[in-house]
Amino acid sequence: MYINCDDKELEILQKIALSAEELGVPCYLIGGFVRDKILGRSTKDMDIVCVGDGIKLAAKVAEKFTPAPEVHFFKNFGTAQIKADGLEIEFVGARKESYDFNSRKPAVENGTIEDDQNRRDFTINAMAINLNKDDFGELVDPFNGINDLELKNIQTPLAPAQTFSDDPLRMMRAIRFASQLHFTIHPDTFAAIIENAGRIKIVSGERVADELNKILMSSKPSIGFDLLYKSGLLKIIFPQMVDLAGAEYIDGHGHKDNFYHTIQVVDNIAQNTDDLWLRWAAVLHDIAKPATKKFEEGHGWTFHGHEVVGGRMVPKIFTQLKLPQNEKMKFVRKLVELHLRPISLTKENITDSAIRRLLFDAGEDFDALMTLCAADITSKNKTKVKRFLENFEMVKKRCAEVEEKDHLRNWQPPITGEMIMETFNLPPSRPVGDLKNAIREAILDGIIPNEYEAARNFMLAKAKELGISGVNS
Ligand code: ATP
Repeated sequence: MYINCDDKELEILQKIALSAEELGVPCYLIGGFVRDKILGRSTKDMDIVCVGDGIKLAAKVAEKFTPAPEVHFFKNFGTAQIKADGLEIEFVGARKESYDFNSRKPAVENGTIEDDQNRRDFTINAMAINLNKDDFGELVDPFNGINDLELKNIQTPLAPAQTFSDDPLRMMRAIRFASQLHFTIHPDTFAAIIENAGRIKIVSGERVADELNKILMSSKPSIGFDLLYKSGLLKIIFPQMVDLAGAEYIDGHGHKDNFYHTIQVVDNIAQNTDDLWLRWAAVLHDIAKPATKKFEEGHGWTFHGHEVVGGRMVPKIFTQLKLPQNEKMKFVRKLVELHLRPISLTKENITDSAIRRLLFDAGEDFDALMTLCAADITSKNKTKVKRFLENFEMVKKRCAEVEEKDHLRNWQPPITGEMIMETFNLPPSRPVGDLKNAIREAILDGIIPNEYEAARNFMLAKAKELGISGVNS
């Protein structure tokens, strides 16, 4: 066997080979599984291509397992899938494709294994392992993908311009693989991406988002974002991010290039979290800097309010990028809005009250916010970074102390609205809200501790002051 499989995988491949032999159809393991095995990456998806009916082969293979797994098949596409021993195995008949200019859906006809390898996107994805009796385990590599794996090179098997024009999603895939594998895109292939960038418009937003998320989840997402930018794709799919690029100078004062700053922040955060949405918060944290940029005499460049304006941009950008409009979006928005707060604390005299407010506002997302803020500390000046990080650690420590004392992160008011209504025999109304807010503010300002007894006394005094009296008080 050319690739290194464990016993379980080998046993599965032998079952597939035997089934194919029984049906008299030549069959191959192809694509990502072969690539990832050679690279030593873990992989759970096997793609099997046979010169014949993929659905029949899947059914035959399923019979060889006890219990036999269910065969999910899609008659229209001629594909079938089974799950066995923790692996997802997909079966398809070898095919030849021809494309229409207006669609990325090809006309498909049955073909040979060569035809099938020709339709693959990159040489490193076109390698196959022979599963036929006489040549079991041998590599079938017509485009020398193995050499490209060694050179860490991404290139198309056929003419790149045609490949990308046929199916423009492949441009996103090239960049995604470069970002995931830390590979380089061959100059001719990259030139063809630049040339065909406009064709990305025929790809559905959902598929683009899927690739964007994969780039963002790679270990060094800046590779992918930089390539998206340089290829012209980013300008089309996410222009607001391109607006961050460049530095303007007035009277010799420049500001940093916020595009490169942002992708640096994304790389930083990628080292500390695998949470896709926290990574999105890093992408979007400064997104409103271009919209809020001003040059102020004597001050230099300012971006006042970019966190608030940026927060407001989040729902629109999520809609545009076909990302969800749910609590994930709200989480990203909240982090964008709060991203300056911990750092601004490091600059001023930190009061307990300021710390309490930060804990209260961030709530259960406090740790995520701190992870974002630490990632946001980028500067070429190492001493500056060190000083910032030290201050930042101090804020963290202070927050931990205040939190231990006051428990504000998952704050539940010690006096609820219902209690207020009952005490003063009030219907739901403005005074109830006023009293509730007054209690919260008193706790955050440290006037009273975060406890029932103190809050109740404060409520009674405040009610008197506001002229509220009730039968139960
Ligand atoms: P991953 O699992 O990380 O997404 P993969 O290479 O396995 O990587 P799949 O999308 O599962 O990606 O595709 C399996 C194989 O199908 C690829 O290796 C490639 O040979 C082929 N393929 C997938 N999408 C395309 C495409 N748009 N154009 C041409 N070939 C493709």
